[in-house]
Amino acid sequence: MTDSPEPTIDPRSALRELAMDLSIRWDAGNDGIWRAIDEELWEMTRNPCLVLSASSPERLEATVSGAAFRRTIATLASARHARDTAATWFQTRHGDGPLRHVAYFCMEYMLSESLPIYSGGLGNVAGDQLAAANDLGVPVTAVGLLWQHGYFRQEITAAGEQQALYPVNDTHHMPICPLYRPDGSIVRLPIHLPGVTLWIRAWEAKVGRNRLLLLDTNDPANPPQIRLITSELYGGDSESRIRQEIILGIGGWRLLREVGIVPDVLHLNEGHAAFAVLERARDHVREHKVPFEVALAATRAGNVFTTHTPVEAGFDRFAPELVAKYLRRYAEQELHLPLPALLALGRRHAEDVDEPFNMAWLATRCSGGVNAVSELHGDTSRRIFTDLFPRWPEAEVPVGHVTNGIHVPTWISRAARPLWEKALGADAWRAMPEPADVRGDADLSGTSDAELWAMRNQARGTLVEFARTHVARSIAIRGASIEQMEAARHLFDPQVLTLGFARRFATYKRPNLLLADPGRLLRILNDPERPVQLMIAGKAHPADRKGQAMVQEWAEFVRLPEARGRVAFLADYDMRVARHLVQGVDVWVNTPRRPWEASGTSGMKVLANGGLNLSQLDGWWAEAYAADVGWGIGDGQEHGPEWDAADAAQLYDLLESEVVPEFYARDGEGLPRAWLARIRTSMSRLTAHFSSDRTVREYLERYYLPAAVRVRADAARDPVLLSERLRKTEGLAANWHDIRFLGTSVRTTGGVHRVAVALCAGAVDPASLRVELYANPRDGAAPEIVPLQRQPGSRDMRELHYFADVPADRPADHYTARVVPALADTAVPLEAPQILWAR
Ligand SMILES: *Cc1c(COP(=O)(O)O)cnc(C)c1O
Repeated sequence: MTDSPEPTIDPRSALRELAMDLSIRWDAGNDGIWRAIDEELWEMTRNPCLVLSASSPERLEATVSGAAFRRTIATLASARHARDTAATWFQTRHGDGPLRHVAYFCMEYMLSESLPIYSGGLGNVAGDQLAAANDLGVPVTAVGLLWQHGYFRQEITAAGEQQALYPVNDTHHMPICPLYRPDGSIVRLPIHLPGVTLWIRAWEAKVGRNRLLLLDTNDPANPPQIRLITSELYGGDSESRIRQEIILGIGGWRLLREVGIVPDVLHLNEGHAAFAVLERARDHVREHKVPFEVALAATRAGNVFTTHTPVEAGFDRFAPELVAKYLRRYAEQELHLPLPALLALGRRHAEDVDEPFNMAWLATRCSGGVNAVSELHGDTSRRIFTDLFPRWPEAEVPVGHVTNGIHVPTWISRAARPLWEKALGADAWRAMPEPADVRGDADLSGTSDAELWAMRNQARGTLVEFARTHVARSIAIRGASIEQMEAARHLFDPQVLTLGFARRFATYKRPNLLLADPGRLLRILNDPERPVQLMIAGKAHPADRKGQAMVQEWAEFVRLPEARGRVAFLADYDMRVARHLVQGVDVWVNTPRRPWEASGTSGMKVLANGGLNLSQLDGWWAEAYAADVGWGIGDGQEHGPEWDAADAAQLYDLLESEVVPEFYARDGEGLPRAWLARIRTSMSRLTAHFSSDRTVREYLERYYLPAAVRVRADAARDPVLLSERLRKTEGLAANWHDIRFLGTSVRTTGGVHRVAVALCAGAVDPASLRVELYANPRDGAAPEIVPLQRQPGSRDMRELHYFADVPADRPADHYTARVVPALADTAVPLEAPQILWAR
């Protein structure tokens, strides 16, 4: 829309609309309008809504009346309009496909500093996927909670202790609006908890064409206890957690219904929102007057569950009594499901009355697709989920993976943006090309080494400025001396190799691995020829004592006289601190204990900015690492804490012998050629692949589209047919123990094993069985699975005969016969997990 007509828009309402659209990434290229209104407030908060409401009418009037300002607003408004109306990748590619709408549920969203309803990684994944879905035009409505206090804010005391603070999130200055009904009244939904009916309020935030709907319980009509349910993210006990999850899952789905959204796909980003599958089925119960089981069978295929934890302890679990207290009435009166049947959905063993209710099991039992968030996490998750698929080989446990990615336009620096624009076209980098379109280094070949290096120097300089201001402010708050403040203004050196380390201070992330040998670290930092500087940030959960001790360990190290000027702890790690760090650092360090980093995303944020990764071969880095793009720690195996010392030694070795020398090896023009080659390779090979564009495309093509096809077919199916299918599945489960192997024989002739198997199926219909031979994988390939044919003839169910011929290139005893379900329109083993082995 370059030929847009003379601006006829009202600048004030245009400003407000711009302020409210979370898909706009305000950076140094376009944030002039907010600077013009209130530079200081903008710098401090980057919250356009606050800048607007805090400016006096006179000030606003004076600014808005300037012709240049009005032209800028008109340009921004028409660019926004153009983005919101242009044909999108989704429309072009899948507009005629089966998918109409996705509902995306998550406990937290990291979309903007002005909407602090996130803690860290999970919110980052959700926010960046939402942003990418908008860029690609995938129709998504996200659902979350509006946290009155969000996650805690961190201050570090003079003694180096972490203080957790909970300032109130002021809804008036956040880019959200109450959700209105067509008649102008606000949306309020009643929901029952034991003994009370409470009110849920609803809000909406715009992410371009898509919306994020947020729920809270802070309604004046609610008792104080209830109003606080949506107070603190990841605070409180398991009782407050189950209440939050009921609001999110059940309340969230009801809200969609209330506003007329009927999604085909429900994507549960982590198990917190899994109750939504119940409410989705309940809609079906009411509409079609069918039992819950039939309704679940009709809707299940449309649910997608993404697991994010690498350990079973990471799943949300609730005591059965708590579930009974909160959901008995709901189960009995609304789902028409006896409580034990509901509890069974969240248990490994339905009949074990002591077993807690596991939200991940609920999500898995009620979804048509389950995935982990990196290739390695896929392996780890299949191991954890074997519990639900007993006796299935790990490789066949139905958990796939979609590796996370980050939204490049959100994390790109001002310095790096022109390079990508030159490589990919003015706005093209906003939707990253499909990885297949990126050919090696070719895409950055238009940028010289000198330009690349200038970009890095500029970005590092900006970070150093930011770090100085940030540290000065934090220590001023706690009453630092004039000398300390003065020292903060001279922290760091914009020419020095800069390492960044920022993450949640959880034990498995080993945030103090770099401190394993403080003397050695100090020698690395203070090398007179080739110095190194280090920026640290991260919060420890207020209930995590060990995590807080590690924060303190860093705070004490920072105060050592020998560390002065070279190390700082940047308090209150959040989106703002993260953005500055990932844009400016030369090397991003990550040292989790493998395989505990399910994916990790912070290291992906440095890619487009020309930062390099020096990380444990875990999560996404295990997938991305190659010797020419960065450095890997660990041996690619899993070890306990006894291995920490070895990892630390390797980390120091790499710094001393590779990272530092390569950074400081300059040629006649002052350029570190080897370093720049590495940056170039990392940027061009990895950026697009680890972007949330690729992630969203993958979800769409591998999960959403097939889910939409299946759920449409199921929902349209005659309930009688669905009940029949269900009866078959249940009958199979009930009679499975009837099945017995009677014998196996092998005859080997002419290079072929002829395997014959005799089976008694008891009450089970042989048509719903598949008999197979299974052999373990060879050379890392997939397991070998050979279906057997049923011998026609005998109708005697007490003795069925099957046979198969397999090439005799491995011994016959490598093969084991097994029986698995074979039911039409049923995913095996996800929806029918039975299996019987001949031995
Ligand atoms: C990206 C980001 C995370 C996720 O980081 P990982 O350490 O990779 O899990 C957490 N917190 C913030 C503030 C982030 O920006």
